[in-house]
Amino acid sequence: MQLYKNQHIKVYNSLTGKKESFKPITEGYVGMYVCGPTVYSNVHLGNVRTFMSFDMVFRYLKHLGYKVRYVRNITDAGHLENDADVGEDKITKKARLEEIEPMEIVQRYTVDFHNVLNQFNFLPPSIEPTATGHIIEQIELISTIIDNGFGYEVNGSVYFDVHKYNETNNYGILSKRKLEDLIHNTRALDGQSDKKNPQDFALWKKAEETHIMRWPSPWSDGFPGWHLECTAMSTKYLGEQFDIHGGGMDLKFPHHECEIAQNQAAKGKSPVNYWMHANMLELNGARMSKSTGNYINPAELLSGKNDILSKAYNPNVVRFFMMQSAYRSVLDLTDNGLLASEKGFNRLMNAVDDLDNLKASSTSSFDVKAWEQACYNAMNDDFNTPILIANLFEAVNHINGIKEGNTTITADDLETFKNAIHTFVFELLGLNNAKDSAEGPNKLSGAVELLIKLRQEARANKDFSLSDKIRDELAEVGITLNDSREGTTFSTN
Ligand code: AMP
Ligand code: ZN
Repeated sequence: MQLYKNQHIKVYNSLTGKKESFKPITEGYVGMYVCGPTVYSNVHLGNVRTFMSFDMVFRYLKHLGYKVRYVRNITDAGHLENDADVGEDKITKKARLEEIEPMEIVQRYTVDFHNVLNQFNFLPPSIEPTATGHIIEQIELISTIIDNGFGYEVNGSVYFDVHKYNETNNYGILSKRKLEDLIHNTRALDGQSDKKNPQDFALWKKAEETHIMRWPSPWSDGFPGWHLECTAMSTKYLGEQFDIHGGGMDLKFPHHECEIAQNQAAKGKSPVNYWMHANMLELNGARMSKSTGNYINPAELLSGKNDILSKAYNPNVVRFFMMQSAYRSVLDLTDNGLLASEKGFNRLMNAVDDLDNLKASSTSSFDVKAWEQACYNAMNDDFNTPILIANLFEAVNHINGIKEGNTTITADDLETFKNAIHTFVFELLGLNNAKDSAEGPNKLSGAVELLIKLRQEARANKDFSLSDKIRDELAEVGITLNDSREGTTFSTN
């Protein structure tokens, strides 16, 4: 096996339940697919955490020198309420409530998603395909599944025959569920009577009269099933078999289980070598989730406008907080946790700033190469970012030691040390420079406070056109002034 930058990665594979040596199908290339958001509402911080985990994986693989094709889709059709096979499409429902076109909902929340990811310094994926852009591929896939005997049509809808599939395959191979147990535990729901069995899932749904998002197909005017889009798009851009498939833990069943079944049924192959599942972000001890209302949006966290946290946090602090926990661990979002991360982040950034002023000596009193390899070892061990960060804090101690003259480092080692710290902090963890981040909000508030003062002076001079201009033009750039008896404060949105 060829090594990249001499590193040997082990990945925890949810399919086998083991950490396995990572070996891509094609030497030097990695194909990675991650289920993207359903763009019917603002993303919450739980969603951000999952995408950030895979942004970190993407960054590390690229850093080692792999050519990575990272596909992260946008779900803009076919995802029904409660992740079920009956009910209203999430996007159509939102469009109906807001009395606008479904595609306006899609556009609004796709833009929001991108803005949020930019705030947290994400790298863009290589391809970001949409479900509605791949209806033809999905129809072709359904035809193949029917031809192979694993799909059947009833009243214009097409379902996947889970029982038939399970005769020759293992439905439950990923989620470790057994079909008998599923049969035992599912209740036949009203409206699902078209299916041969309640465990079957929709590949194509005939659209009701009122359903706006619809496409012609051999079976009916309708829309594709939610699980199908990921199979169609991953196959199209990464092939019938590819290296890594990621998503949140909650997608393992049924979504990813169904993806495997669809690939097996259509192509006779298991599509993915390494299934990676990111664990959940919690709030108040329960999973953050839109449907239960237990969530906080990035904008609320970054502006401080929420009832949960004591203050606003910088996106880099939030990123650091998330990276301080391993992607496979549950993480609870708390004020204390964020405050501690803020302290740690500032300490790290101060040390990074100090790097430029360090003086070299004729000998090194610590082994820089061994320290650097310890950082790599952390990342090689299933992307263990908290251990990497522990190593970075060890580097902070070395930096302080060099500053105070208790530790020595040669010029060559100092060069290696600086480069490694920059690589791990900025390139791999995706953090931004301390000067831009830690002081950014203070600069903004300093400038806005000045404008508030000028506005007060304008009002005192009865120059209301100037005072209104200041308020209105700040509002245009997303800064709202709030007047009260105690004075004027501002908020950003
Ligand atoms: P959705 O838009 O609901 O399909 O979710 C987008 C992604 O966010 C999926 O990969 C989910 O698994 C993930 N996700 C949803 N809730 C959470 C959470 N509380 N913590 C971490 N990831 C989550
Ligand atoms: Zn998916």
